[in-house]
Amino acid sequence: KAGFVSILGRPNVGKSTLINSLIGEKIAIVSNKPQTTRTNIQGIKTGENYQIVFIDTPGYHKAKDTLNRLMVQQAADSIDMADIIFLMVQADEHMGPEFRNLVKILEESKATKFLVINKLDIFKKEKAFLLAEKMFPVLNFTEVVPISARTGKNIDLLVELAVKHL
Ligand code: GDP
Ligand code: MG
Repeated sequence: KAGFVSILGRPNVGKSTLINSLIGEKIAIVSNKPQTTRTNIQGIKTGENYQIVFIDTPGYHKAKDTLNRLMVQQAADSIDMADIIFLMVQADEHMGPEFRNLVKILEESKATKFLVINKLDIFKKEKAFLLAEKMFPVLNFTEVVPISARTGKNIDLLVELAVKHL
């Protein structure tokens, strides 16, 4: 099986950490400063029965200036390419305007959507469950997967589920 998986979400939720963990190499810069990722970064993961191109995108936010517009365009391109979209949030995510804007755009996409809830190493599981419950009706998610991109928790499961839905 083969396909494209786009990783989308607000700045700082851990998208670049996730792609590094998936690929097993530091291909994207990780920083607690928003807007560190300015272009889409692709990493190919090959298994026995699959080949997946993961796309790390700049954080999605309102386009105020030229650089921001370019970054938003990158995210839009990756949505067009994607067979599967990982909408990444952290367990304490609040649904602000940035997030709702992204949801609106994802509603138009025919890709399979996963809700990936990150930073389970620092947030309580209950928090993630509450969030999942709140978000599930927002988009028609095929899977909800709580992970820690930092510790690697549930990353294998995430890949397994992606392969299943390709
Ligand atoms: P991006 O902007 O979505 O690409 O986020 P980054 O991958 O650059 O990460 C933003 C910050 O969150 C960095 O300080 C990371 O070390 C941190 N971070 C990412 N994933 C995790 C995680 O699973 N657990 C914790 N505790 N921190 C994380
Ligand atoms: Mg990044």
